[in-house]
Amino acid sequence: RAHLDAIAALNPRLNAYITPTPELAERQAAEADAALARGEGRALTGIPLAIKDLFCTAGTRTTAASRILGNFVPPYESTVTANLLRDGAVFLGKANLDEFAMGSSNTSSAFGAAENPWKRQGEEDTFLVPGGSSGGSAAAVAARLALGATATDTGGSIRQPAAFCGIAGIKPTYGRCSRFGIVAYASSLDQAGPVARTVEDCAILLGSMAGFDPRDSTSADVAVPDFAAAVARGVKGLRIGIPREYRMEGLSPEIDALWQQGMAWLKAEGATLVDISLPHTKYALPTYYIVAPAEASSNLARYDGVRFGLRENGEDLKDLYERTRAAGFGDEVKRRILIGTYVLSAGYYDAYYVKAQQVRALIKRDFDRAWGEVDAILTPATPSAAFGRDEKQDDPVAMYLNDVFTVTANLAGIPGMSVPAGLDAKGLPLGLQILGKPFDEETVFAVGGAIE
Ligand code: GLN
Repeated sequence: RAHLDAIAALNPRLNAYITPTPELAERQAAEADAALARGEGRALTGIPLAIKDLFCTAGTRTTAASRILGNFVPPYESTVTANLLRDGAVFLGKANLDEFAMGSSNTSSAFGAAENPWKRQGEEDTFLVPGGSSGGSAAAVAARLALGATATDTGGSIRQPAAFCGIAGIKPTYGRCSRFGIVAYASSLDQAGPVARTVEDCAILLGSMAGFDPRDSTSADVAVPDFAAAVARGVKGLRIGIPREYRMEGLSPEIDALWQQGMAWLKAEGATLVDISLPHTKYALPTYYIVAPAEASSNLARYDGVRFGLRENGEDLKDLYERTRAAGFGDEVKRRILIGTYVLSAGYYDAYYVKAQQVRALIKRDFDRAWGEVDAILTPATPSAAFGRDEKQDDPVAMYLNDVFTVTANLAGIPGMSVPAGLDAKGLPLGLQILGKPFDEETVFAVGGAIE
C-alpha cells in the first residue's frame, strides 16, 4: 500500500511507470499474505517490484515504450517474470524505458521521458535523465516507488541507469537469464538483470530471475548458485584488474578520483590490484553500434502492422507496412533500422557487419586473456553523472559515448555490475563497474559488497 500510495503521488511527475498495475498488485499481495499465513513463504513473497515494460506479462499491456506496441497485451508471461511470480513477488507496474531499449536517457520513450529523482545542488529546476534504457526501473527504485525492478542490458542499460540513480544493478553472464518473452532488441547482446537499492537485494533478485530455460536456445544449463551468500565473502586474496585502456583521453578528474577511491577500498580489504591491458577496448563502441543496430533491424522486421499492435491501413500491403512503421516507430528506432539494414546490405555486409563480428571476437579474447591474471576487473561505470534532459539530444553520437565503459561486457558476454560509489561535485551519484568471468557473478557480488 505504501508503494502504491507513493506511485499515485509521485509517478505523475517522475513517469517511472508507463502502466501502474495497482489492482494486480493488490491481488498478488493478498495471495502473498495467504501464502505466509499457510507458512508457505518463498524468497520474494510479498516483495513489490517494478517490471521493465520490455518483459511480456500475461494480461498486462507490454509496450516496449513504442507506439507500435501501444495496445499489445501479451497472452503469455516471460520466463524471468514467471520465475519472480513463482517466488511470490508482487508487480506494481510496467516501468518506462527508451523505445525498444534503444537509448541511454529514457528520452526516446513514446510515453514521455522518465525523470531522475536526484537533483543537482542549486539547480532544482533542471530535469535530469535517469539514464537508459532502463530509466523507469532505476528511477522507480531510487524514488522508493519499488523495492527492486527488472531491467535489461544490451549495451549498458542496467548499469548506466543504476549509476545515474545511485542504486546497484547487475547484467549477468549472457545466457544466465532466459530471454523468452522479452521483446528482442539485439539478441546476441540482450540480457536481463535486476536493479535494487543494495548489492544484496540484486543478488536475491537475480537468484530468482536466473536459470536454464529450454524455450531460449541461448539459455545456459548452468546451476544457479546462492548469489546472496557471496555478497559478504570479502575480497581478501582476490586479484583485481585495472585496465589501462579505460583511462582514456578526456576521462574527467572526478571519475578518475572515484576510480582511485574504489581501488584504495579494495586494497584496504586485502585485494591485489593488477595493471592489465584490454587492447581492443577502443573498438568496442563502433563495433557495438554496428552489431546492435544490425540485429535490431532484423528483430524489428516483425512489426509490420499485420501480426502485432498498431496497424495503419494502406492502399496495398506494402503501403500498409510503410504507413504502420512510419507512424509506429520513433526517430531513434528508425535511425537504428537504417544503420542496421545498411551494414547488412549486399556490398557493405563484409566491410561492416562481418568486420564488426571479427573485432567482437578480439574484444572477447582480450578478456579471456585477462582472466589468466585476475579474478575481476574494476572500471568506472559511466563517463559522467546524470545529465539534463535537453543536453546531448541533438547529437546521437554524443549519446552513444555514454556506453563507452559498459558495451564491452555485452560484446564479450561477461557479467558486469554497477555499484554506487560516491557523489560528484554537484551531489549527483556516481557508480563503479565490476566485470567478472563468465558465470562467476559470485565474485562480482563479493567485490560489489566490499565497495558498497
Ligand atoms: N545505450 C545503448 C543503446 O542505445 C544501450 C541500450 C541497452 O543496453 N538496451 O543501444
